[in-house]
Amino acid sequence: MTPSSPASSPASIAERVAAVRSRIDAACHAAGRDPASVTLTAVSKTQQPEAIDAILATGQRVFGENRVQEAQGRWTDRLPALQGLELRLIGPLQTNKAEDAVVLFDVIETLDREKLARALADAAAKQGRAPRVLVQVNTGAEAQKAGVLPDAADALIHAARQTYGLNVEGLMCIPPADEDPAPHFDLLKSIASHNGLSVLSMGMSGDFEAAIGRGATHVRVGTALFGERNRP
Ligand SMILES: *Cc1c(COP(=O)(O)O)cnc(C)c1O
Repeated sequence: MTPSSPASSPASIAERVAAVRSRIDAACHAAGRDPASVTLTAVSKTQQPEAIDAILATGQRVFGENRVQEAQGRWTDRLPALQGLELRLIGPLQTNKAEDAVVLFDVIETLDREKLARALADAAAKQGRAPRVLVQVNTGAEAQKAGVLPDAADALIHAARQTYGLNVEGLMCIPPADEDPAPHFDLLKSIASHNGLSVLSMGMSGDFEAAIGRGATHVRVGTALFGERNRP
């Protein structure tokens, strides 16, 4: 009897990271893609410091967070000691938090309106620090979901670049929970291609392999790495 064998104990974070990484490699292989073309964004929202320590110990350095204040609490004290950390904001951003977001985040994935583009441009000028930006597209046109509607995406991308001078490098989407995500991934990719954008943040724990098959460059994975989240 080995009571601590992997079959009878919950997977450690290191084991989960290795499993997700090998699933990414396999999905890339199946799609004829270089695994280096897909970045794993570990979604660390709600996680406790021990879980963060454990995943940092695996070498993971790219993290996604939903809320500015929560992310400040989790990362500000760790930043000086960490090499190569990349923080990505993947939750909705209020304009009055734009400055805090620009200070902390390397990438803001949730630009979805012109007013926020203006706030980010102002904050970037004031802080002397320009984040890379993704435009979030509400591919399912869901009333409760953030993101610019697909019809309005081209105009927002154009304004963000031309009017506000933001460094827009790609698009992000969260497909409707109860639908096949594939058409949503395809729609995001087509909007990106005709705007000359190369970064596609799409795919979560339940569908990252499908997203890789349809061109994702960044997959945002929480549960499959950390286990079920505690309620915030
Ligand atoms: C929480 C969250 C994720 C991660 O979801 P999992 O299903 O736990 O992998 C990805 N993207 C966004 C925008 C999220 O809010």
